[in-house]
Amino acid sequence: MIAAAFWTMVFLLGACIGSFLNVCVLRWPAGESVVRPRSRCPRCARPIRWFENIPIASWLALRARCAGCGLPISPRYPAVELLVGLGWLAAGLAYGPGFTAIRVAAFGTILLGIALTDLEHYLIPDGFTVFGLGWVLLTAFAGAVVAGPSPFAGPLDAIVGACVGAGAITIAGWLGEVALKKEAMGFGDATLMAFAGAALGPMRSLLTVFVGATLGAVIFLAIVLPVARARRRAVAGAPATGAAPAGGDDPAAAAGEPPLVPFGVFLAPAALVTLLWGDVLVAWYLRLLVA
Ligand SMILES: [Zn+2]
Repeated sequence: MIAAAFWTMVFLLGACIGSFLNVCVLRWPAGESVVRPRSRCPRCARPIRWFENIPIASWLALRARCAGCGLPISPRYPAVELLVGLGWLAAGLAYGPGFTAIRVAAFGTILLGIALTDLEHYLIPDGFTVFGLGWVLLTAFAGAVVAGPSPFAGPLDAIVGACVGAGAITIAGWLGEVALKKEAMGFGDATLMAFAGAALGPMRSLLTVFVGATLGAVIFLAIVLPVARARRRAVAGAPATGAAPAGGDDPAAAAGEPPLVPFGVFLAPAALVTLLWGDVLVAWYLRLLVA
């Protein structure tokens, strides 16, 4: 009974952090503060009251609409709150309630924020990466003093890993630009890999770039390219409507090319997978090579 109450609190804490993550994802790309002003409805500017701001529950109670003007509220907000809540719960159950679980959960939360802003706006806000790098380095030093074994790099490996991660992705992006003859990587990817590399250490940050590039190539060839081709065929067959092409801020989609898929969307999950299962992944890959 006490255990159930404790884990419910862990989930709710995660959901509240997910709620704050929504604010960061919404405001940082626009260059706005995440502290002030209070959240308002974008249409009727009605301030969102505290009881309308309870993770997941408020969205359900309001039936996904603004209480003032009825503007639909995206299901993405409760989805992020639910995902982060489950993530904090899973980290607590897997590593036991303590410092390591908080480090894993915070790492995953920041990576989710990075993936969401990169997917939607093609940028990775410094808010995530600067805070993330500071947090990872600080907890690496703290972890070396107080905590036992953890999946994170120690203090020295964290510093080297930040440099190796940022360097490796810069080289990979530069070679990609030469091969594709167009811009393949933004500076944000280097800041992402400095943050992730500090958590992972040098070897696993190289593995992250490899896993991220593989994941990106597979998804691009298997999903993005066929969908773009099918859509172009449909557009060519249909009469012109004058509607703007779908694809958000993507300059490539507007030019009729296959849509740009930001690398951070793949690097972020790759970094989390590498942190949790990097050793298993390397062992599996080595067995493949030997067999
Ligand atoms: Zn409204």
